[in-house]
Amino acid sequence: MTKKIIVTGSNRGIGHSIAERLASEKYGIIMVDYDNKVINSAKTLNSEYGNAEGIQCDVSSYEACENAFSGIDKREIYGIVNNAGINRDVLFRNMTYEQWDAVIKTDLYSMFNVTRQFTDSMIENKFGRIVNISSASWNGNVGQANYSSAKAGVIGFTKTLARELGKYGITCNAVVPGFIKTPMTDQMPEKIREKFIEKIPIKRIGTAEDVANAVSFLMKPDSDYISGILLEVGGGMIL
Ligand code: NDP
Repeated sequence: MTKKIIVTGSNRGIGHSIAERLASEKYGIIMVDYDNKVINSAKTLNSEYGNAEGIQCDVSSYEACENAFSGIDKREIYGIVNNAGINRDVLFRNMTYEQWDAVIKTDLYSMFNVTRQFTDSMIENKFGRIVNISSASWNGNVGQANYSSAKAGVIGFTKTLARELGKYGITCNAVVPGFIKTPMTDQMPEKIREKFIEKIPIKRIGTAEDVANAVSFLMKPDSDYISGILLEVGGGMIL
C-alpha cells in the first residue's frame, strides 16, 4: 500500500514540521492549507524528498473538503494529521460570535470535515492512523473559551473514533502541545511568554520538531496497540 499522509495546516508552523518529518521518513505527504502558498511549499518538500503534493483547502468547510479531496485516490491514504487551527483569544465577556464561530469551525468542525472523507476507505483497507492536534488549553484557559472548547472537543472526538474504529485496524490519538514556538505564539507579548516559560518544568519553550516527533511515533505501523491516548508535548507544563 502507498503510505500517504494528509497533514492539514502544513504551510507553516507545527504542521510544516510534521510534514517535513514524515516526508523524511519516506511517507508520501499531502500538504493541505488555506493558503495557496502550500502548493509551492509542497514543491520544495518534493524536491528534497520526492514524495509531497499540495492541496489548497479551507478545512473549516465540509464542502471545500469534499471538493478538495475528490480527486485523490482515497485507498492510498495511510494516515491523517488534523493540525490546522487558529486562535482568537479574548475574555469571554468581550468575545464576539464571529470569534467563537471561526475558532470552533476551524479547530473542531475541521476534524469531521477532513476525517469523514477517509474513514470509509480506511475501514476497507483495515488500516489507518489518525492523529489530532489538541492543546494543553483543552482543560480551560483564561481568554480562550472558544479555543479551549474546540480543543476539548478534539479529545472527545479522538476517544470516540478510537473506540469505533479500532476493530478495523485504525488508531486515533491526540497530541497535546503545550507552549510551542510558532508564528501563532510569536504574536504573544514578551511578558506573557516569560510567565509561561516559568510554568514549564523543562524551562524552555517547545519546538515544532518536538511535536512532529510525537506525531511520527503515533504514525508508525507498529504503534498499532496505542489508541485513544493524549500524548502531551509540553515539557511537563500544566496550565
Ligand atoms: P500556525 O498559525 O503557525 O499555523 C497554522 C496553519 O494552519 C497555517 O498554515 C494556517 O494557514 C493553517 N490554517 C488555518 N486555518 C485553516 C483553514 N481553515 N484551512 C486550512 N488551513 C488552515 O499555528 P501552529 O503551528 O502554532 O499550530 C498548529 C496546531 O497546533 C493548531 O491546531 C494549534 O491550535 C495547535 N497548538 C499550537 C500550540 C502552540 O504553542 N503553537 C500549542 C497547542 C496547540 P494560513 O497560513 O493560511 O493562515
